Amino acid sequence: MDILVVGAGLTGATLARALAEKGHEIRLIEQREHLAGNCFDYFNDNEIDVHMYGTHIFHTQSAEVWHFASRFAEWYPYQHEVRAFIDGKLVPVPFNINSIEALFPTSIADRLIYALLNEFGLGQKVPILELRKSQNKDLQFLANYVYEKVFLHYTEKQWGFTPEQLDQAVTGRVPVFVGKDNRYFQDKYQGIPIAGYTRMVERMLEHENISVDLNTKFSRDQLEEVDHCFYTGAIDEYFNYVLGELPYRSLKFNFLEFNRAHFQPYAVVNYPNNYDWTRIGEYKYFLDTKSDKTVVSYEYPEAFVRGQNERYYPIPNEANDKLYKRYLELAAKEAKLTFAGRLGDYRYYNMDQAMLRAIKLSESF
Ligand code: FAD
Ligand code: UDP
Repeated sequence: MDILVVGAGLTGATLARALAEKGHEIRLIEQREHLAGNCFDYFNDNEIDVHMYGTHIFHTQSAEVWHFASRFAEWYPYQHEVRAFIDGKLVPVPFNINSIEALFPTSIADRLIYALLNEFGLGQKVPILELRKSQNKDLQFLANYVYEKVFLHYTEKQWGFTPEQLDQAVTGRVPVFVGKDNRYFQDKYQGIPIAGYTRMVERMLEHENISVDLNTKFSRDQLEEVDHCFYTGAIDEYFNYVLGELPYRSLKFNFLEFNRAHFQPYAVVNYPNNYDWTRIGEYKYFLDTKSDKTVVSYEYPEAFVRGQNERYYPIPNEANDKLYKRYLELAAKEAKLTFAGRLGDYRYYNMDQAMLRAIKLSESF
């Protein structure tokens, strides 16, 4: 079949490759001047791999996704750690036993750790909104502390909502961890593509059945020339906002270069309480690049406004889910069209989830 894929992010690129390998002819269009969507990166003059839309760490439990991606990338075995600036200290997030020990005097820390181990057990991951339900007095104290110092103000900055006003899965992405593993992700497969994400996507698209047009925005007349279209742009935009706009969160990135080896001790430092930014990413850590210069980005969350900034995060809550489902009903009437991706499915996908969705769609097509 002749297939149009709209959007050259990881969803569109995975779809294009997987469908091309099944023998279909793919035309991929992308409105931006570059491939890879929000995973786009480039190597700067000092060979530092800069991720233009914020720090991106690949992590998955899916062997299928990992093996698919690994056909197009060699991996640097990077394991991500984040520190949060809390009460003047840099402590591990996800908040864990080491964070407790760093912040509290030993006698209190021991009590809190004992209570955590007793109620949940070693190795458990407890979303903050679950921890807050504990009846144990020590855990109530801990939950209130972590809620206030780690989650509340970060979430208000990031989303413009409190944790309770969002789907619980949002803060559940970073659960309190009853253990001492400081890594942000404990997935079996993790890494950074040694040649960068953009190169990985380029390699996915190097196939005789795939043609790519950058700087090309979707228009409906393109549908007439093809048998099917996979659309990874925003579903509300496709339908010209007839049911109203689906809200998104955007970010402003402030990139700075410094004439020194390092700016901060970890690739990402979160600032839940102080300052207007939520986090600072330092890029040389990802591939352990040696340089006497370094590049960082400050992330300032803001509302998405059409024509002014980019859609980065769908906002998971009940009202938005309802509106999205009404758009899905419209989508069901479009015989030639399948929506996918963070924007098409209005889902807070990680890279691996976006790829898995694309692989599954290509298999069932
Ligand atoms: P996108 O990357 O958004 O691609 C969609 C593409 O479609 C875009 O290039 C867009 O320009 C194009 N498009 C849209 N409409 C049209 C149109 N009408 N015509 C033509 N082209 C169009 N995931 C992780 O796994 N690990 C991380 O560490 C991580 N960090 C992140 C940090 C930030 C700040 C953000 C915002 C996301 C992060 N993610 C991370 C998520 C990751 O970026 C997404 O999972 C992934 O980019 C989704 O790919 P996609 O193809 O669905 O969407
Ligand atoms: N979060 C928080 N404090 C932190 C880290 C995360 O409150 O120090 C909450 C916040 O609501 C955030 C969500 O958990 O948006 C998910 O965090 P994650 O790091 O997964 O966000 P992403 O990398 O997708 O921006």
